[in-house]
Amino acid sequence: MRAMVLRQQSPAEQYPLQLEDLPLPTPKKGEVRVRVLVCGVCRTDLHIVEGDIHPPRLPLVPGHQVVGIVDALGDGVKDIREGDRVGVPWLYSTDGTCSYCLRGQENLCDAGRFTGFDANGGYAEALVVASARAYAISKSLSEEGAAPLLCAGVIGYRAFRLSNIPRDGRIILIGFGASAHLVLQLARHEGCEVYVMTRSAGHQSLARELGAAWVGSAEDQPPALADSAIVFAPAGGLVLNALRAVRKGGTVALAGITMSDIPPMPYDLLYPERIVRSVANSTHRDVREFLDLAAEVPIRASVQMFPLEQANEALLAMKHSKTEAAAVLKVA
Ligand SMILES: [Zn+2]
Ligand SMILES: [Zn+2]
Repeated sequence: MRAMVLRQQSPAEQYPLQLEDLPLPTPKKGEVRVRVLVCGVCRTDLHIVEGDIHPPRLPLVPGHQVVGIVDALGDGVKDIREGDRVGVPWLYSTDGTCSYCLRGQENLCDAGRFTGFDANGGYAEALVVASARAYAISKSLSEEGAAPLLCAGVIGYRAFRLSNIPRDGRIILIGFGASAHLVLQLARHEGCEVYVMTRSAGHQSLARELGAAWVGSAEDQPPALADSAIVFAPAGGLVLNALRAVRKGGTVALAGITMSDIPPMPYDLLYPERIVRSVANSTHRDVREFLDLAAEVPIRASVQMFPLEQANEALLAMKHSKTEAAAVLKVA
C-alpha cells in the first residue's frame, strides 16, 4: 500500500515525509483494518514531523483524523462489519485498568497510545485499529467534512466544555484554524456570542462568515470582557492576553499539545478567581458525543484537499496558515 512515511524528523520545508510502498497490515484479535478514504492534517502532525514531540519509534506513518471503510476483521470483532464507514481519532488505545481509566479520565491514561504516533496512522491506504476505537460516521457527514472533526473538532469540543462557558455566554477564541472554526459553529449553536483573535486576514473573514460578533488580532482590545477563552495558538504569551480578556472568575482553556513558555505575570491577573487549564487528548465519550452533535447541528468543516503524496505541502500550508481552515489528504 502507498504511505507517506516519516524516517527522520526535520522542518516541513525539507519535505520529511516520503512516499513508500508498505505491506498491507493485518488486523489482530479485536482489531479492524480500515481502508483510508481521507485523513485530516492536524497541527500535532506538524509537531511530530518537525520534532517538537517525539514518537517512540521511527519510521512512522502519521495521521489521526482518518475516515475510511472497514475491509477486514480480526478475531472476535462483533460490533463492526466489513463495509462500515468509520472514523479513527487520536486516542488509539488505553489499558483500561490504571487509576485514570477507572475514573473516566482515559485521556490521561498512563499507558495511552496514539494514532499516527505510537501506531501507524492514516497517511496511508490502510491502518489497523481496535474495533472499539473505530467510530461510525453519520451518513449526513461527507468523508472530507468528517475528517477534521476527529481531532480538531473533538479537542475543540472538550476545550469548549472545560472552558466553563455558560449557556448564552461570551467566549473568545484565540488563534483560528481547523479547531477554532468548528468550535465557533458549536458555540453559535449553543447561543454564545463569539469573539475571535487571529492575524490571518483569510481566517478573520471566515470567522465573520461563521458568525463571530467581533474579530481582531491578539493585540486588539475586544469590546467587552468574556466569560471564557480558548487559546488554540501555541504561543505562551497569548495566555496573558486571554486572562486580560476574561471577566473575574472566568476560565482560560489551552487546547494545544505544545506551547512556548508562558511569560511571568502579575498575580493580579489571576487573583480574581480566574482559571487557567490545559486540555489533553480526549475520551471515548468526547468523540461519540461530538460526532453526534456535529451531525445534528450540523457543523461544517471548511477544508482544503491535497492528494496523499502532497502531505508535505499540506503540512507547510497549515504551518503558514495558508489553508482555508483544515487541510485534508485524499487517499482513495
Ligand atoms: Zn489507563
Ligand atoms: Zn490532532
